Amino acid sequence: MGIFNIQEITGTFKKKLLDFKASLGEAVRYGKEIPFADKDINYSLKLQNERLKEKGIDLESRIYDRDKDANKFLAGRKWKDSHYESTMCYSWCGIKRVVKKDGKWRYTDDKKSVIYETVTDVVSGEHPDNDPVNCPNCGMVSTIAGLQDGCSYCGTRFQMDDLFPKVSSFYFLDDVGMSKKEFWQGYWVFYFIAVATLYALCCVLRGEIFLPHNLIQHRSNLIGVLIGIPLGSFPIGYILYAYFLIIRMIVKAILSAGKMGTAGSRRAFESRMKKISPEFSYEYFTSKAISLIKTAIYSKNPQDLLFYTGRELDPRMKDIIDLNYGGALGCKSFKDEGNMVKVVTKAYFDVLYAKGDRIYSKSQVFTATFQRRTDLPVNLNFSMTRIMCPSCGASFDATKNKNCPFCENPYEITTDDWALVDLQYK
Ligand SMILES: [Zn+2]
Ligand SMILES: [Zn+2]
Repeated sequence: MGIFNIQEITGTFKKKLLDFKASLGEAVRYGKEIPFADKDINYSLKLQNERLKEKGIDLESRIYDRDKDANKFLAGRKWKDSHYESTMCYSWCGIKRVVKKDGKWRYTDDKKSVIYETVTDVVSGEHPDNDPVNCPNCGMVSTIAGLQDGCSYCGTRFQMDDLFPKVSSFYFLDDVGMSKKEFWQGYWVFYFIAVATLYALCCVLRGEIFLPHNLIQHRSNLIGVLIGIPLGSFPIGYILYAYFLIIRMIVKAILSAGKMGTAGSRRAFESRMKKISPEFSYEYFTSKAISLIKTAIYSKNPQDLLFYTGRELDPRMKDIIDLNYGGALGCKSFKDEGNMVKVVTKAYFDVLYAKGDRIYSKSQVFTATFQRRTDLPVNLNFSMTRIMCPSCGASFDATKNKNCPFCENPYEITTDDWALVDLQYK
């Protein structure tokens, strides 16, 4: 994506993106399903809502508009396979979170943020009629053509518009950019620093302190001090401010480079995956990884999850009530063995904990290890809520059954998608 061809999202895409943004708070707080969001998102939101209920916590997260541009969604990176095309879209917003426990206020924060939503649509001209899809009404697995004729479980008929496009992943990032207002606030600080410095310099050079009475006695001082310094401070303040911004940017770049892990292993991983599936991208992998980590953490029994094959999770993770991606998924190491790839990542999150009555937020790093087969292409529309059984071809929801309900063969996640094989702190 070049900086000069930023595209604004319009039409159905925009409507669904905005609706998603508006529905998210209620989904977390009351467990309300979002109809045009992928089942995997709804599944993870449902688990988060259950965690809140279990702890007697009311988490109100209000996503609000920060300025008049807030209703705009811009298109970022795109990726596609033979049937589906995904676009990463983003929009500026603010999030205010208020946490109550047993009716008593416990915690509030308010952050400037950017919401990222991936919207997935059927590639125009393609008719993947027999692809499995979840019924937006009852959640059962059907096919795209089947739902247009009427769901065989609940009878509801759908138009293509109800099924696609849909939001297939999302996360928030803290907005580190500056608004115009903040830019000018920062400038005035440096302006007054320049005024004070020039004034002190004049006093030192002239060997006297310019107080109101000696300014009036000497006309030349009056002009120099009252006009020269305020005027001269405009460009000097600007130069000081520019240096400050550059240094701040360099420090931030160094800090985030540390988070990204080794660029070499990320490149090796990406090029290995592109050999299996040319449409593979690290962005796609990142949103997948975030979603698996969130689902594992919110789950009551992660070991019952289809995609989790690791040990029991650290008990501290049971106290997590909200989890926001911290902007980096570093690739620590990458191994290519037999017909498996194993990738170790460092995932940064802002975590909200509820330990007893204490609610607190903390930045945390998790080490998450993922594994996948290398002899099969990546299915970018894969979902654990609609599995196609490799033995008999029937479709089912694998969050409910690990065995195919039709032929009873056990289903192995690594046949089609990533498995999370380990998740721990640091
Ligand atoms: Zn249905
Ligand atoms: Zn089967």
